[in-house]
Amino acid sequence: MLNMNNISRIYQSDTIQTHALRDFSLRVNEGEFVAVTGPSGSGKSTFLNVAGLLDNFDRGQYELDGVSVQGLKDDELSRLRNEKIGFIFQNYNLIPDYSIFDNVDMPLRYRGFSASERKRRVEQALEKVGLASRFKYLPSQLSGGQQQRVAIARALAGEPKILLADEPTGNLDSLMARQVMEILHNLNNDGATIIMVTHDPDQAREVNRNVQVIDGQLADFKIYAPLGRSSE
Ligand code: ADP
Ligand code: ADP
Repeated sequence: MLNMNNISRIYQSDTIQTHALRDFSLRVNEGEFVAVTGPSGSGKSTFLNVAGLLDNFDRGQYELDGVSVQGLKDDELSRLRNEKIGFIFQNYNLIPDYSIFDNVDMPLRYRGFSASERKRRVEQALEKVGLASRFKYLPSQLSGGQQQRVAIARALAGEPKILLADEPTGNLDSLMARQVMEILHNLNNDGATIIMVTHDPDQAREVNRNVQVIDGQLADFKIYAPLGRSSE
């Protein structure tokens, strides 16, 4: 699904050169749930941004769902990103004065789907995160955990090939974090491929694979559970 080979991302300012990623290689198969851990400043966000085509890279090869990314133009990259990637951020990134429905609908509108197709997708996605009845609410009328579930629905509505989550429970108390993690596990059991940056060692242990990043390099990985947790 995702295949990175010797990726380097170098940030250059006048005097300093930072290798945010150096010769970073990682392969993620369809249906995997991978947790990315590592110290602050180690390159986790850079990895997720490169994986999600939000940032470019200086060296190496990256293949996403069979498409070679290097050399693509900006408009090709954004089309690929819209089609294949669903993002979940720590801060939800919902639009405050849009209803829950409109928040989930907005990227679909942007992509030009018909009204009926959009309605189908939004309702189905809100159903999956248990918030179908809240479609008229504003984000401020929901708890933080519910807002993150709306953000997950927004990602799902794009029917992405892969979900990228940057500390999705970072702002949530433990009960709400648990609910969000349960949703991610349910989606993974239904076949979703997920890469999640987390600082929570327990979260990292309960997925298929834990990848540790140190100094921009893949330092270690552990496999906790083979694919197909659902059969447990
Ligand atoms: P993490 O997510 O693990 O905290 P980051 O990927 O945010 O790490 O950062 C990795 C390194 O790259 C850090 O040294 C950071 O300061 C640097 N870095 C990240 N983004 C930029 C940027 N846009 N410009 C310059 N340096 C950056
Ligand atoms: P996180 O803990 O989520 O990785 P960071 O504080 O490390 O958050 O970085 C947040 C964002 O700021 C990163 O996505 C990165 O692109 C940017 N960033 C990090 N370090 C630098 C830097 N030295 N210069 C410019 N941008 C940076």
